[in-house]
Amino acid sequence: MRYAEQSQSGLPDIEIPVLEPQRQLYFIQKAKELTKQYWNGNQPPAYCLETFGCQMNEKQSEVIAGILEEIGFVRTRREEEGDFIAYNTCTVRENANLKVYGRLGKLRNLYGRNQKMRIALFGCMMQEEEVIRKIREDYPFVHLVFGTHNMYQFAELYCRMMESGQQVVDIQEGSDRIVEELPSARNFGFKSGVNIMFGCNNFCSYCIVPYVRGREKSRTPGAVVNEVEKLAEDGVTEVMLLGQNVNSYGKTLPEPVSFAKLLEMVEKVEKIRRIRFMTSHPKDLSDELIEYIARSRKVCHHLHLPMQSGSSRILADMNRHYDKEYYLDLVARIRKAIPDISLTTDIMVGYPGETEEDFQDTMDVVEKADFDTAFTFIYSKRAGTPAAKREDQIPPEVVKDRFDRLLALVQKKGRENSSRFEGTVQEVLVESESKEKGIFTGRTQYNLLVHFEGRKEMLGQYIRVSLDQCHGFYYLGTVVEENP
Ligand code: SF4
Repeated sequence: MRYAEQSQSGLPDIEIPVLEPQRQLYFIQKAKELTKQYWNGNQPPAYCLETFGCQMNEKQSEVIAGILEEIGFVRTRREEEGDFIAYNTCTVRENANLKVYGRLGKLRNLYGRNQKMRIALFGCMMQEEEVIRKIREDYPFVHLVFGTHNMYQFAELYCRMMESGQQVVDIQEGSDRIVEELPSARNFGFKSGVNIMFGCNNFCSYCIVPYVRGREKSRTPGAVVNEVEKLAEDGVTEVMLLGQNVNSYGKTLPEPVSFAKLLEMVEKVEKIRRIRFMTSHPKDLSDELIEYIARSRKVCHHLHLPMQSGSSRILADMNRHYDKEYYLDLVARIRKAIPDISLTTDIMVGYPGETEEDFQDTMDVVEKADFDTAFTFIYSKRAGTPAAKREDQIPPEVVKDRFDRLLALVQKKGRENSSRFEGTVQEVLVESESKEKGIFTGRTQYNLLVHFEGRKEMLGQYIRVSLDQCHGFYYLGTVVEENP
């Protein structure tokens, strides 16, 4: 089926495809023409794209960057050099929203000096009604606004913005749609994220993700494997499979597939050497998955397992569907099957109604679970979530005191646990050169960073490094063997 819409750009008058991704590929061509007409200088126009929030956002930004480069933009990291500025936003914590408003204040000045500049905001924060109202009223210089459900329509929306000359706001309430095969500009040549699912069905009482990202939808295993194969052909050797709750991957597909089965399929892609994934919900972590990680040759022995709280009472209130005993038992089962596993976690402090006793339960799990790292957060009230309506919010000074005590314990335990590799030789993937010339950084399968003297040719390669000294969250090491 095709629309009878006609092209009004310099493109030949062909019918606009209805099917995706053909429709977006059509609009990319059209956007190219519109961009050339608008920025008609000697140099190609520059885009500056900033991503806030999680790795899924990073991954989606790569698609927006890929489309912009296809349209004819070149990348700049300096906002003041940008002709097109875009922010991929996050709204998990209130701070993330405040950061974006702060940056918009700065952009207002830049726009005042260069009114030819075009500005776009998209992603999670844009799914909130209050945010859209504020942008319409206070930030008229933002030209394009879209949400999480129609990111794939970026080229089409860009054309609408360029043709209308007005603020275009297009927010959709939900979508089952997953559009494959759009261009992408990757941040690294040798490693890449791969989205395997979008949204979340869990409704943890403090979390805004299900409201802004919608219900869980999984990509088909075929689409995931196809993308991994292409990445491997392109030089990628490490993939990170991404989803809000990867352990429930595939449950809503017409032919359900477990996450462990998906890992098995990805593992068959020959040139891939390492597979990581994120994020795991403890309630859905199956024995099948634990067994698979234990026998896999490629899945890294690192598991990020957000606990959020150690108190069974608070966990029930958070709607997490597990308690303290279940979490500790799960950790024990994982360690029994995979003795060298590195465990990391997320912990929230100051959830409404949290007592000192609840907090002591959290400290107790940190003592017992032996995490290598824990990301600690102060509870952030998100409008529209059940927890935000609670009247027993914890006073900031109490939260701060608990947060400081938790952080001290997490750091002490983290130092003790991650130093267990001191004196061993580990394979690392060399990821970057530091500002200090000749010093490179690699990552072990356990997700620990190692700094060592190296050469540029090592970037993207696997080498063996002796982990000489542990400095808490990183090691100093020496290269033992190249190309093992
Ligand atoms: S599992 Fe809970 S915390 Fe994680 S995204 Fe879903 S609702 Fe939010």
